[in-house]
Amino acid sequence: MLQNCAQKQENPLLTEFNTPFNSPPFDKISNEHYLPAMEEAIRLHKAEIEAIVNNSAAPDFENTIVAFDRSGELLNSVNAIFGGLNGANTSPEMQEIAKQSTPMMSAHRNEIRFNQQLFEKIKSVYDQREGLGLEPEQIRLVEKIYDDFARNGAALPEEQRNELKAINERISMVSLQLGQNLLAENNGFKLIIDNEEDLAGLPPAVLSAAAEEAKAAGQEGKWVFTLAKPSWTPFLQFSERRDLREKLYRAYFMRGDNNNETDNKKLFIELMTLRQKMAELLGYQNYAEYFISDQMAQNPQNVYDFLYKVWEPSIARAKSEKADMQAIIDRENKGFELESWDWWYYAEMVRKEKYDLNEDELKPYLTIDNVREGIFKLTNNLFGLTYVKRTDIPVYHPEVEAFEVKDNDGSHLGLLFIDPHPRPGKRSGAWCGTYRNGTWKDGKKVAPIVTIVMNFTRPTGDQPAMLSWDETTTYFHEFGHALHNLFANGRYQRTSRSVPRDFVELPSQVLENWAGEPELLKTYAFHYQTGEPMPDVLIDKLQKSKYFNQGFDNAEYLAAAILDMDWHTSAVNGETDVNAFENATLERIGLIEEIIPRYRTTNFGHIFGSGYAAGYYVYRWAGVLDADAFAAFKESGDLYNQELAAKFRKYILAENALWEGMDAYVKFRGHEPSIEPFLERSGLLEQLN
Ligand SMILES: [Zn+2]
Repeated sequence: MLQNCAQKQENPLLTEFNTPFNSPPFDKISNEHYLPAMEEAIRLHKAEIEAIVNNSAAPDFENTIVAFDRSGELLNSVNAIFGGLNGANTSPEMQEIAKQSTPMMSAHRNEIRFNQQLFEKIKSVYDQREGLGLEPEQIRLVEKIYDDFARNGAALPEEQRNELKAINERISMVSLQLGQNLLAENNGFKLIIDNEEDLAGLPPAVLSAAAEEAKAAGQEGKWVFTLAKPSWTPFLQFSERRDLREKLYRAYFMRGDNNNETDNKKLFIELMTLRQKMAELLGYQNYAEYFISDQMAQNPQNVYDFLYKVWEPSIARAKSEKADMQAIIDRENKGFELESWDWWYYAEMVRKEKYDLNEDELKPYLTIDNVREGIFKLTNNLFGLTYVKRTDIPVYHPEVEAFEVKDNDGSHLGLLFIDPHPRPGKRSGAWCGTYRNGTWKDGKKVAPIVTIVMNFTRPTGDQPAMLSWDETTTYFHEFGHALHNLFANGRYQRTSRSVPRDFVELPSQVLENWAGEPELLKTYAFHYQTGEPMPDVLIDKLQKSKYFNQGFDNAEYLAAAILDMDWHTSAVNGETDVNAFENATLERIGLIEEIIPRYRTTNFGHIFGSGYAAGYYVYRWAGVLDADAFAAFKESGDLYNQELAAKFRKYILAENALWEGMDAYVKFRGHEPSIEPFLERSGLLEQLN
């Protein structure tokens, strides 16, 4: 016991942080602290759960629901710190810790999830929730916690619970195998070129990357192209060799459908059959109904209606894009019909002719500090936020900056870490996370600690870091997630800042709309040498470039989204032919043969796991929401309309504990989202007339 206490004192994860705002003491934490802290936090969490289960008093809101919601606080803190750093600043030792802790955590979670005694207590409060004099936020908390268990089958009789468990275990195996097969198919194909004539059209940067790839593959002196996007896309865009484009594109869309040992057809049917059974056991007609029932869209019909509405103008536009490209082919007397492997190549020509935007001209105006200032100004104009750089707060890497975020009345809102550049040990992409969630405890506000992590271009020599347009909008995007975390204001862990998957990208994507608005650009995009604001011609080109290839982009995406919905609303069996099923879908919606869905069934990684199964639609759904939300500001004639901003903050960002997705949206906007602002933004609106 004594020894235990001594250890605890030494472990900074298990003692008071004693830092400003109780932020994680990154300077004191080292790798040997994680596993003991996790073990101790799990032990504590188990004790908290046992105390709820063994409480001899009748289950009520406080002793069961609130106690459950509060439990695991230390574990959340330790996991947030370890998980955050393992993504942003990992090392072989941390990866080793992750290997050990991942099964430990999932065993612990499962133990709680399948704790039937705990569920019985929760159910007892749930059954009488209307008569307990609870407030709406409290009733909603009871319902969410009950649903979390029920959606895992806790409310079923024992025999069916066991059946469901067996199905879930098999689903994990099958989805793992589908993913591994896809990985093998991705890595299994290489286009090896040893004749310089076969490289016609490829820019120097693409060639040197291909030479590097060859070297890594033990083919020094040759050029290798793979199915990874950074290699694959430029080849399709620039290679003049039509036969080789076909070869590379075919290898891509045939992944998982090659009738070899990594073919995914049979396994995919098994996955569909298992998901169908699982949904039926839980009382749903099909998996899509199960998944969508707790989303903003509510039911599969709403998703179909939405997808078809965007589909019509998208495919109409795609057909006219095809005609533009065929005109180029005919003009050059090539004498062939456009095929799917030609699309990128000719689209690139259209881009040059119609949307000539040179990214390098933009960059000197978009230094990383300029862009951050633009975001600070925007959030100040909208919400009155101010930012104070803090150098007294421990960070985990010298490049990370800490800012105190102050609310419009000057009070402390939260802490924000910004970690901008790539380095070994940081995973790719950009994301937003929290080291502590914003909520309330014992009647006091707990301020959030938020982090945004990116992999933006580094400064070189005496030049500052200059961002591409894509990086610029990514910065705005992640900052939108950060605002959502900073404004979260629910009283309970489970419901504060908790939104469904088809809602979560609204706060982030909406901010991207402001990035390119001339009014805001004029206040942040200054040339790093001359101090001149971005010229109007450039702003104009930037605005127009949004329309490029939008028919194709939407059609190939929507075809995949509809395919996903079809699979998860149809009863399939061992006799179902994957390719016939897929073709029937594409024929029904009228996809043209020059376009192949962004993912075909056998390589649709998003729907192999549970994250986006019957949920691939969420990306465009969020696009429609963010365009419609931004349109509210435009329509008001004031990009920084305070009244709208206040409503957006309240209903969309702060009070997620109180409202379901669509109700929240309608409270902000006054009506349900319309697809027109999205179509207008993508240049698709005219297709409707
Ligand atoms: Zn996002």
